[in-house]
Amino acid sequence: MSGSGRGAGGAAGGAAPRPVIGLEIHCQMTSLKSKLFCPCRADYRGMAPNENVCPVCMGMPGTLPRLNAEAVRRGTMIAMALGCAIPERISFFRKNYFYPDLPKNFQITQLDMYGDTSIGGRGSVLVGGRTVGIRRVQLEEDPGRMIYEGASVQNRISLVDYNRAGTPLVEIVTEPDFEGPRQLRLFLQMLSDMVGNLGVCNPALEGAMRADANVSLEGGNRVEIKNISSFHDLEKAVVFEIARQEAQHSRGLEVAQETRHWDAARKITAPSRLKEEEKGYRYLLEADIPWVRIDAETVESLKSRMPESVSEKRERFVSRHMIPPQVADVLSSDKMYSDLFDAARTDKNARELANIITTDLMGLAMASSAAAAAPAAARDDVGGDAQKKKHDDPASDVIRVDGLRELADAVASGQMARNSAKQALHEMAKTGKSFAEVSSEMDLGLISDESELLGVVRSVISEEPQAAKQAYSNPNTVNYLVGKVMQKTRGKADPQVTLELLKRCLLGD
Ligand code: ADP
Ligand code: MG
Ligand code: ZN
Repeated sequence: MSGSGRGAGGAAGGAAPRPVIGLEIHCQMTSLKSKLFCPCRADYRGMAPNENVCPVCMGMPGTLPRLNAEAVRRGTMIAMALGCAIPERISFFRKNYFYPDLPKNFQITQLDMYGDTSIGGRGSVLVGGRTVGIRRVQLEEDPGRMIYEGASVQNRISLVDYNRAGTPLVEIVTEPDFEGPRQLRLFLQMLSDMVGNLGVCNPALEGAMRADANVSLEGGNRVEIKNISSFHDLEKAVVFEIARQEAQHSRGLEVAQETRHWDAARKITAPSRLKEEEKGYRYLLEADIPWVRIDAETVESLKSRMPESVSEKRERFVSRHMIPPQVADVLSSDKMYSDLFDAARTDKNARELANIITTDLMGLAMASSAAAAAPAAARDDVGGDAQKKKHDDPASDVIRVDGLRELADAVASGQMARNSAKQALHEMAKTGKSFAEVSSEMDLGLISDESELLGVVRSVISEEPQAAKQAYSNPNTVNYLVGKVMQKTRGKADPQVTLELLKRCLLGD
């Protein structure tokens, strides 16, 4: 996949060789009910520490893992969506290392040691017009979480919470096909839309998607960057690391093959000193989990279960529902909002509905999550596990499908001005009232009563004598006057009636 670039790099002098970047992404299967090998809950968020554990995920002697069949199915769906080949049978391996967050002292994961036995392999996706290869997709368990407390190094206390231990992950390993940070960003956006759309993972949950980056300059040693907490930081880390390696190169120094971590505070990558990073994992076949056959029938039935992809959805929004492409981009990339759109849409309201969702409703959700984030951040400071749900959506919890449909209908049929729709939406979200209640209480309907509008039209004409004169010859000026009437009525004047009245007043008598 790689290596089609300009000549072999490494020669001293000249420009630095081109960067080579590959990713390893861990994606939590947040929508599953139970952990990968035991009946504890997959959704550990918001629980008191060490509440979500059992003898299996605590690695007690004599316990045996039982594989979660639905995790295999959903992992297969991700692999298929990434264009991977699905093996006839899969196996699991023990990755041995000692660390307090790992109760068994090994992690159950997958490895292609005896042929392709990970859940998927050799796939590819199109990103920004270029192909990115997928090396493999594998199922594995997440470790627990370490929490460090204490004001100084001497007083530091390490705590461990096993609620997350054993929860199901899909790891996606790409080929080193990325050209640069921009393509990384497009890929991660595509991937998070994809797993969200498949209903496997809610990528908006804190820590639901985590990525490590591998960076080298063509022909040189590779550096793995770990501990990157957000996609935004990933880009920064890669940009920094490329610059660091180029600086080494220009001084004639070899880049050391090593693992570095991203220091978000100092905005640099620094060498990791952790022993467990060394490759002494002594992988061995996990004999406690039998090989699992993935037969053709299963693959077929999963194919039929695959939802419309994000790009198909976008295409449908544009061609069938006449949504402008930019709006369709935003709407199709978010499963929750696009489901809401599909549920509330009618032949007539689709365009207005798409507008209301992508501007007003999403804006409202963003404002309320910004407000909700503040106390969570404070909890973080005392070492607690802040369970921030960035994308958690109070607005859409309250505004049900019916409310949105009625609102969009009112705008589409001209009963309510676009401006008022936003106000109505805010009020519905705040109070939980129905559309009917809100629109009558707030008096948000369009003013189309001629006698009511005539007074406004007349006062505009008398305040704008210049424009009124020009309006005879220039249609733009008429629009200007309509705008003035809108201003005076706070957007509530019926534009059709206003135009009629203006024409009548200017030309008529
Ligand atoms: P290994 O078994 O050696 O760790 P993996 O198959 O796990 O290899 O690949 C690790 C990651 O390193 C992948 O994301 C891959 O794209 C990336 N990678 C491989 N070679 C290079 C390279 N020369 N430069 C940058 N990244 C690379
Ligand atoms: Mg690896
Ligand atoms: Zn358990």
